[in-house]
Amino acid sequence: MKIGVLALQGDFAEHISMLKQIDADTAEVRLPKHLDGLDGLIMPGGESTTIGKLAEAYGLMEPLREFGKSRAIWGTCAGAIFLSKDIGRDQPLLGLMNIKVRRNAFGRQVDSFETDLNIDELMKATGTQHPYHAVFIRAPIIESVSGNVKVLAALEDGRIVAAQEGRWLATSFHPELTSDTRFHEFFISLAS
Ligand code: GLN
Repeated sequence: MKIGVLALQGDFAEHISMLKQIDADTAEVRLPKHLDGLDGLIMPGGESTTIGKLAEAYGLMEPLREFGKSRAIWGTCAGAIFLSKDIGRDQPLLGLMNIKVRRNAFGRQVDSFETDLNIDELMKATGTQHPYHAVFIRAPIIESVSGNVKVLAALEDGRIVAAQEGRWLATSFHPELTSDTRFHEFFISLAS
């Protein structure tokens, strides 16, 4: 199992270190050729406009869309924005996943927060029962889902913060900034 991490901008190093903790092979992806031989790709948090512009500059847009047709992709925070079909404004998007996302939905940096989430799918996949501690940093929300998208997690007020569509996964929060490897294990199960 080899999982790539899009390494254009953002906290890709933290994803790589999580993957190493669970003994996955990893690769940093900066150019189309780096996608060869990967079973899945993680797109990190950071700044989605910057990630999109760099992906265009490095000729990655079409290769990433093609990769996603047959393999697993997980976007965390800015990565989830980049993976989505619609964000209600103009910036480069892969446009793969049938989710509508709103950027910076909780406000500014100072409005970042952490909370515990009960995520049945994740607990089932990892044979665990404790809640998942999620870290939100200038996070987006998933305003609506369509097609075959399954909602995995929502806040108490119902706002959606994690969703899955086949082999694609989107989380508003940052599993790579915790010491809980369950989301990375779950992603690997989608990639295999
Ligand atoms: N606010 C950023 C964006 O809109 C995402 C923040 C993050 O990835 N932590 O792209």
